[in-house]
Amino acid sequence: MTVLRILRTTLVQAAADAAAVLLPVSCAGCGDPQEGLCTACRAQLEPAPRRTVLADGLEVVSGLEYAGVPARVVRALKEEGRTRLAVPLGTALSAAVRTGGWPPDAAFVPIPTSPRAMRSRGYRVVELIMRRAGLPVAGYLVPAGRRADQRGLDAASRAANAAGSMAPTARARGREVVIIDDVVTTGATLVEAGRMLQRAGARVLGAATAAATPRRLPGTPGG
Ligand SMILES: [Zn+2]
Repeated sequence: MTVLRILRTTLVQAAADAAAVLLPVSCAGCGDPQEGLCTACRAQLEPAPRRTVLADGLEVVSGLEYAGVPARVVRALKEEGRTRLAVPLGTALSAAVRTGGWPPDAAFVPIPTSPRAMRSRGYRVVELIMRRAGLPVAGYLVPAGRRADQRGLDAASRAANAAGSMAPTARARGREVVIIDDVVTTGATLVEAGRMLQRAGARVLGAATAAATPRRLPGTPGG
């Protein structure tokens, strides 16, 4: 009887966990038990685009500051499979691209998703946000080599980690490109992407992200 009760409790818990994954019942921003995003957190996702220039001169425009509610929403999209959160992040990315003022025929090139991230998530975060932003995806960068998770690495380690993590395709030649990522941290990933695209004969106009970490030090090598 005790075994049965434990078994039943376990099954009920498992079913509840599965339902929570399929239908999140708490706000991704504050954990309030009500809906996907509460009104207060939605307001925190209003885009406020700002420009940063990375060490190598690459200009990045970001729609949100990666802190508080926006940071939790990005993590919920990346780590909890809450793909509907790509909608407000797409709005932020779209605002960043408008602020960038790049020509409409520029090619928007996402930072490629590693095969490991694709296997674990089943979707490409950057491309999902781009689709919600209404941006066409120009897949001029492909994953290459091995790359560790960037989290927990300092700026120098991120730069070393980013080097060799992606390769350009021949279609980049002669194109004007804008590099797209979900979050810019040190800028190492964007700088490496710019280097690869230039090497392939593209002209890099700038970069746009849904969010940027606050208080990035000027002159920090390009994450
Ligand atoms: Zn909330």
